[in-house]
Amino acid sequence: MRLRQQFLTRNDCYKAQRTITVKGVMVHSTGADNPRVCRYVPGDQELGTNTLGNHWDRPGLTKCVHAFVGKFADGEVGAVQTLPWEHRGWHAGGAANNTHIGFEICEDGLTDPVYFGKVYQEAAELTAMLCRQYGLDPLAEGVVLCHQEGYQRGVASNHADVLHWFPKMGKSMDDFRADVARLLEEDSGGGEGGEEDVTYEQWKAFMLRYRQELAAQEGPEYGREELAEAVERDITDGSRPEDLATRQEVISMVVRALDEDEKAK
Ligand SMILES: [Zn+2]
Repeated sequence: MRLRQQFLTRNDCYKAQRTITVKGVMVHSTGADNPRVCRYVPGDQELGTNTLGNHWDRPGLTKCVHAFVGKFADGEVGAVQTLPWEHRGWHAGGAANNTHIGFEICEDGLTDPVYFGKVYQEAAELTAMLCRQYGLDPLAEGVVLCHQEGYQRGVASNHADVLHWFPKMGKSMDDFRADVARLLEEDSGGGEGGEEDVTYEQWKAFMLRYRQELAAQEGPEYGREELAEAVERDITDGSRPEDLATRQEVISMVVRALDEDEKAK
């Protein structure tokens, strides 16, 4: 995910300075053919620059969202956060403003599957990040919604987004929620209780990997002189000082040390 920040401090919504306890995320799309985020934010070199002054960082607007997903100046897709996440946004036209973070996906002509694939992925990653940050389950009832679903639940105004677009590209909001859940699971390495999902074979592979990690590490400062001395006296070869020692290795070191003592006598 490519996430930038440009708060819309001149928007009346920003100035209202109301906060919410985040209980979900609402996905919107802009309803206009302009995939560039700088249509909606003042922008800069990386985001692209709004030259018409029709961005949302100005007073007199009755709408404001927490982020936009769309094209940056280089033509690639990213997300720009436009309100603090816990700020109360004006995106739903209903009670969801009091509970949900809302972001807009910048629409294009709604016929390009390549652009759709990119913004869909970016939107899923952004939603997964927010679910992680606020401890939300994307599969739970009413947590991750699009604007139209919000309307059906009585918490948002009657807008079609994103159900006039996603299904055309073969995606439902259930797909989106499942993809967000998958991203969360990947990130947490199996999610809650994930340990139980590790097979014995996997555990052995992890253990081997862990030992290789340890073996690649240099030992701490203390004890280095003793280690050098032990190498000098041929008690150990001094390799992989941070790795675990087997019983045989320990015994070998002890016997060699005793032999050294015998010789010294
Ligand atoms: Zn909407």
